Amino acid sequence: MYTNILRHPGPTPIPKKVQLAMSEDIISHRSEEFVNLYRKTTNRVKPIFGTEQDILLLPSGGTAALEAAAVNTVSPGENVVVITVGAFGDYFVSICEKYGFNVHKLEKEWGQACTEEELGEFLKPLKDVKAVFATYNETSTGILNPIDKLAQAVRTYSDALFIVDGVSCIGGAPAEMNKWGIDILVTGSQKAMMLPPGLSFVSVSDRAWKVIEENNTPAYYLNLLSYREWAAKGMTPNTPAVTLIYGLAAVCDMIEEEGGFAQTVARHELMKNMVRESMKALNIGLLASDEYASPTITAIRTPEGLDLAQFLKHLKQQYHLDFAGGLGHLQGEIFRFGHMGYCFPSDVLQAVSLMEAGLQDFSYSFELGAGVKAAQEVFLAAHRK
Ligand code: PLP
Repeated sequence: MYTNILRHPGPTPIPKKVQLAMSEDIISHRSEEFVNLYRKTTNRVKPIFGTEQDILLLPSGGTAALEAAAVNTVSPGENVVVITVGAFGDYFVSICEKYGFNVHKLEKEWGQACTEEELGEFLKPLKDVKAVFATYNETSTGILNPIDKLAQAVRTYSDALFIVDGVSCIGGAPAEMNKWGIDILVTGSQKAMMLPPGLSFVSVSDRAWKVIEENNTPAYYLNLLSYREWAAKGMTPNTPAVTLIYGLAAVCDMIEEEGGFAQTVARHELMKNMVRESMKALNIGLLASDEYASPTITAIRTPEGLDLAQFLKHLKQQYHLDFAGGLGHLQGEIFRFGHMGYCFPSDVLQAVSLMEAGLQDFSYSFELGAGVKAAQEVFLAAHRK
């Protein structure tokens, strides 16, 4: 009877319009129709990345795109810096270690961001750093690293490439890849991009292409040079996720209908503020500070006295509201409220209201409606501007 209200950090709900677009008859990826679809659609994605460079599409999850960014630029034994502020920063560490890079780990406590000063101090004594890897939005903690400032620190203190995992925020957070000086920016389809899993996106700066051309680590399926070569012909080197590219065209239509990408970013910012203010009104803690809070996911501390696993189970069974739990050592301490992609202020109001019902069932002490009211106030203030 009820559909699940999926408030996760991905996969996220797929708009009906995108689902319908994906039901188009399949076409050959070597046809003229495909070339037109590919060229037109990837061009429309460029403003979301803030780049004029090609958007390369890989038929893969985000991890393969991260791996492609690493293996195409760095050779075994070379120095890299990996900034890690949570589970997905650790992911980048694992990829780099697997390929035998000499990893210098800049690690922060989970729930904190990395600042440009910290990165600057870390880079100063290091020599011959080939690349700095960073997570823009740390999905495990709801931290949005100050990626523009980190890019500046990379340029000031090294000649390294700056390689960024944008998997859980591109499509919902601002990105100015060229202006900020990001060399490779990667994302996946199943989060703020409103698509099913199975498509990943990579964009590469001119500087990074030069490094890639000279790098001699072997890669076949993940060889970015062959993606570039085929992109020039409006195609991909192997069979692409044609159906998802149809969906992507519909996503671009929806962003246009919303008034352009700046409006999409503003909606995510508004939803972030609604969620945060509602939790504050309920006297429930937040893991991230306001300064570094993610526009796509909020990590919420377990309300005082609650058995979190039971609470999340109850919300799902009783109210069909599905939040994500914590990862790693934060399991049991936080849960995560996803507000990205096909999610609107009305969805936030619904989720906060159902969460309050659950809190009431668990005898948490609060004034019923206080969270919803706080979210409404943020919403109304934004609309009165
Ligand atoms: N990076 C970040 C920040 C993520 O949130 C995720 C997935 O949640 C990944 C990478 C891995 O992406 P995928 O599961 O599509 O391979």
